Amino acid sequence: MSNLNGKVIIITGASRGIGAAAAVECARQGAKLSISSRNAADCADVLEKIDGVGGEAFAASCDVSDFNAVEQLVKETIERFGKVDAIVNNAGIVDPVGLIEDTDPQEWARNISVNLVGVYNGIRSALPHFYKQGSGTIINISSGAAHNPLEGWSAYCSGKAGVYMMTRATAHEAGEKGVKVFGFAPGVVDTDMQGIIRASGINRVSQLPRENLSPSHEPAAAIAWLCGEQSDDLAGQELDVRNEDLRKRVGLPAIA
Ligand code: NAD
Repeated sequence: MSNLNGKVIIITGASRGIGAAAAVECARQGAKLSISSRNAADCADVLEKIDGVGGEAFAASCDVSDFNAVEQLVKETIERFGKVDAIVNNAGIVDPVGLIEDTDPQEWARNISVNLVGVYNGIRSALPHFYKQGSGTIINISSGAAHNPLEGWSAYCSGKAGVYMMTRATAHEAGEKGVKVFGFAPGVVDTDMQGIIRASGINRVSQLPRENLSPSHEPAAAIAWLCGEQSDDLAGQELDVRNEDLRKRVGLPAIA
């Protein structure tokens, strides 16, 4: 399987979890990867794994809430690899978890800066290059929380709902200019973020037994699949890894 041969893909928040798994899978399928996290050193293990599958990658420090840092990340990727074919706006945080009246206003605003403004920053930085080359793929990592309120997650749900509209707004503007835009909900995945959620004890998601969570290689396979041409007919949509049609096309096992 090497349908991403020659592609250059940026993944934010790729030091662990879904972003890290997606980076390794895309590299395995032949893409060159630009991976980042607030601190590039945190991506060392992922770089090693990419090396292990014969891939090529570099890691950068990039806080997605800082527009200049994201713009620099896109520039550096083009300097190193000559182009960008796709950006996966994956970096995200769940905190603050708590009832609205108990949340710290600065932490609440920080969540929106990372989860929503961070996605805008990725799109804003990549889009001019995509328009110039007449092609590009944007994948915004969404969540079921974009569509349903969950107790204690007011910031997270609001930010992800904003990401859903940002996906639609971008598809509306860019869809006819050769740019494919997707929202992608990865399911409930066994990552550090779910560890924070379990420890909070707030709402039904925190009660899910860890063994019931999905492995990160499932959303990773779907993200890699979305980066290829086979996803063209789905452009502009918000997709969910739990959708059976999508699973079949990606090659994931049916649920249940
Ligand atoms: P995680 O906490 O394991 O990983 C998050 C990654 O984002 C890490 O690499 C972290 O360093 C990075 N990050 C955090 N803040 C950042 C910032 N300001 N700038 C740059 N990088 C930053 O979480 P995960 O579960 O892998 O989540 C990845 C994405 O998937 C997030 O957008 C999350 O909201 C979404 N998501 C996760 C689940 C789940 O069940 N795990 C469900 C739905 C959606």
